[in-house]
Amino acid sequence: MSDENELPPKMRLSAQKAPPKPKPRPQDPIEQEFWNRCQDGHLYFQCCGDCGTFRHLPRYMCAKCGSPEFSWERSSGKGTLFSWTVTHQALHPAFAADIPFVAAVVELEEGVRMATRLIECDRDSLKLDLPLELKFEPIGDDFRLPVFRPRKE
Ligand SMILES: [Zn+2]
Repeated sequence: MSDENELPPKMRLSAQKAPPKPKPRPQDPIEQEFWNRCQDGHLYFQCCGDCGTFRHLPRYMCAKCGSPEFSWERSSGKGTLFSWTVTHQALHPAFAADIPFVAAVVELEEGVRMATRLIECDRDSLKLDLPLELKFEPIGDDFRLPVFRPRKE
């Protein structure tokens, strides 16, 4: 018979439960708007109102022409693998159950690049320009994080 309280604190089952995954903490209203739109299950990027260039990360001015004008346009959710690494170490305890996982940069059809995770993939068959599609991963009960998986065509 073992009583959990007889164990050293770090060995107790209650201490081994993973904390919830951290959610983004937006620093300004434009960043907040990006994440709010993700919660509807779609990905939106800012599109310059003057030159039509898409931008990501969310920002107040177009990097190409300097215009502050923009609209939020829905992404196709399709992109290709620009870069990736297989992560074998959880730098936050919430990700310990996920290792190894693939951290990636995806280039979307809109021309923006986005840091993300790949899911539902065979790590050994990853290659540059691999076609990918958007999926949303729930974080807790009330948050969706955009992730990508190999495109099924
Ligand atoms: Zn522009």
